[in-house]
Amino acid sequence: MSVLEIKDLHVEVKDDEKKKMKEILKGVNLTLKTGEIHAIMGPNGTGKSTLSETIMGNPHYHVTQGDILLNGESILSMPVDERARKGLFLAMQYPAEVPGVTNAEFLRTTINVRRPKNDPMPITEFLKELDKNLDLLDMNEAMTERYLNEGFSGGEKKRNEILQLLMIKPQFAILDEIDSGLDIDALKVVARGVNAMRGDNFGSLIITHYQRLLNYIVPDVVHVMMGGRVVKDGGPELAKRLENEGYAGLRDELGLHI
Ligand code: ADP
Ligand code: MG
Ligand code: MG
Repeated sequence: MSVLEIKDLHVEVKDDEKKKMKEILKGVNLTLKTGEIHAIMGPNGTGKSTLSETIMGNPHYHVTQGDILLNGESILSMPVDERARKGLFLAMQYPAEVPGVTNAEFLRTTINVRRPKNDPMPITEFLKELDKNLDLLDMNEAMTERYLNEGFSGGEKKRNEILQLLMIKPQFAILDEIDSGLDIDALKVVARGVNAMRGDNFGSLIITHYQRLLNYIVPDVVHVMMGGRVVKDGGPELAKRLENEGYAGLRDELGLHI
């Protein structure tokens, strides 16, 4: 079993308008183990994407206090590619377009940088896996020969992030609003992909605004973030409550003024 621990994490970003640092995360605590799926919910602007980017090592986000540990080892000083090799994966809220690199090339490269140099994935095995996962996600083979995300619709980009997840098979995946902009059919496809990953060697943080996704990917734990902190933990029923009451009920209950 692997463990990803977020301990009292404080993060600042540069506020370009005011030309000074702004604290976004104000002491986040969270422990995720392989075999578990956790959801993070919370209003817009509360720091969910900041948390994802910081876990993955985006240098734009400055950790001022606290730590991120993978199996007890701090990953804070590791660059993004090293974190990826350690088994972390982030499906971004806004996946980038990479002209000139096909989807298939990108997948092979990202898989192989995570393997020992002298042991790249054999091409036959790669193609077999790719075929299987394209089928699972109702994706057309032609998608793999297109440049990465270039001209992809919002839904295609999200599906493509799940294709990467299935091909790369990370230990821990953070899915940042993978459901935003998806119609119900695409949502079910995305959920099918994530559920196919479920198992003892996989843990996931699913960030979402809406309870709907959690009908299809049932989380073990739900965390609510507000004002840069995790303010409440619960089970799937917590997500349902938020869907009914909005965040106002929880604000009142916890006496928060944020
Ligand atoms: P969420 O994902 O919960 O909607 P974000 O983490 O995207 O929240 O944003 C939290 C706050 O941090 C917002 O006020 C946002 O404007 C600010 N922020 C996030 N990323 C950056 C950045 N790269 N530069 C400046 N401000 C940022
Ligand atoms: Mg947002
Ligand atoms: Mg966000």
